[in-house]
Amino acid sequence: MIKSLLEYQNVDTELRDIETSLKQSEERKKASSAKSFLTGANESVAKLDQRAEDLVGKFNASVKLLSQLEEQAKEYEGIDEMDENQLSYVKKKAQALNEEISNLASAVDSLSKEIESVLKEFAQLKSDIKKAKAQYSEYGPKYNELKASKEDEMNKIKARLKKLEAGIDAEILEKYKQRRNDRIFPVLNEAKEMSKHAYCRCGTELSLTDYGNLKNGNIVECDSCHRLLYLSKT
Ligand SMILES: [Zn+2]
Repeated sequence: MIKSLLEYQNVDTELRDIETSLKQSEERKKASSAKSFLTGANESVAKLDQRAEDLVGKFNASVKLLSQLEEQAKEYEGIDEMDENQLSYVKKKAQALNEEISNLASAVDSLSKEIESVLKEFAQLKSDIKKAKAQYSEYGPKYNELKASKEDEMNKIKARLKKLEAGIDAEILEKYKQRRNDRIFPVLNEAKEMSKHAYCRCGTELSLTDYGNLKNGNIVECDSCHRLLYLSKT
C-alpha cells in the first residue's frame, strides 16, 4: 500500500512539476497580473466616479453660497446714514460675514484642487487600464498556447496515475488528493523515528497511537501540518 502510494506520488511529481512550471511561467504571471488589475480597476473607477461626483456637488453648493454671501455683503455698503448703535451692530455683522466669505473662499479653493487631483488620478487609471488590457491580450493567448503545448504530456501522466489508483486504498487516495489540493507536497512523507518516538518532518511528535499505527505499516496523518506519514521498514 505504502509502496503503491509512493509510486503514485513519484508519477504525480512529474505532473506537478509541469503544473508548477506553467504557474510560474512569464506568460501566466503577466496574463494574471493584468487580469487581476483589470478586475480591481472597475471598482477603482466606480470609487473615483463617486468621489468626483461628491466633490463637484460640494464645490457647486459652496460657490452658490459664496455668491449669496457676497450679495449680502453689498447690503452693508451704504451704512453712512446710521446712528452709532446701529452702526456698531451692523459692523459686527459685516465683519462676521466677511470672515464667513473668506473661509468659504478658501474651502472652494481646496475643493477645486481636490477635483484637479481626482482628474489626474482618473487619467492615470485610464492609462494603466489601457496598458493592462494590452498586456492581457498579448499574454493571455501566449499562456493558452503554452498550456496547450503541455497537454499531451500531462494527459499521458494522468493516464498513468489513473492506472496506479487501482492499487491504493480509496480513502487514503482521497486524502492524498485533498492535501495536494491544499498545496501540501510531497503529501506522503517518511516519519522520523528517534529513541522510540516518531516525528513528522514538520517537527511535531506523533502520539503513541499514531506511532503504533506507523509501526504496523499504516499511514497516519500529522495533526499539525496534515502531511501523510509512513515508517520505512529497515
Ligand atoms: Zn507535520
